[in-house]
Amino acid sequence: MADSRSGHCLCGSVTYRAEGLRDIWYCHCRQCRYATGHFMAACRTEKENLVWDGLISWTAHSGSSEIARCRQCGSPLFWRQPESATISVLAGSLDETEGMDVLGHIFTAEKGSYYPLPDGLPQWIEHREKIC
Ligand SMILES: [Zn+2]
Ligand SMILES: [Zn+2]
Repeated sequence: MADSRSGHCLCGSVTYRAEGLRDIWYCHCRQCRYATGHFMAACRTEKENLVWDGLISWTAHSGSSEIARCRQCGSPLFWRQPESATISVLAGSLDETEGMDVLGHIFTAEKGSYYPLPDGLPQWIEHREKIC
């Protein structure tokens, strides 16, 4: 499929393929900052469009959401809300992101004071229904 993209964790023991990924959003909430070490870049697709191979662990994230990491190396790979039909892939784990755009920044009220956001992209102080 033309819009099929692959990705993997740091150690390579988890690989995945996703179809129909939307554009990327940046989340600056505290949970995403703790989980990633900076802020989260993620893009979603329907749950059935993501297949992975290898062992992952799901742990609690914000609210009812969960984040998946490789059990071997700990790389964060996916984010999901159990009640949602979609799942998000963390953009840093994609093998290539050519042609993907960034929609904007969410939860900027919780962003770290150590980095500016000078890219001119839209910003929301909390979440934005359509993308998060
Ligand atoms: Zn790994
Ligand atoms: Zn977040």
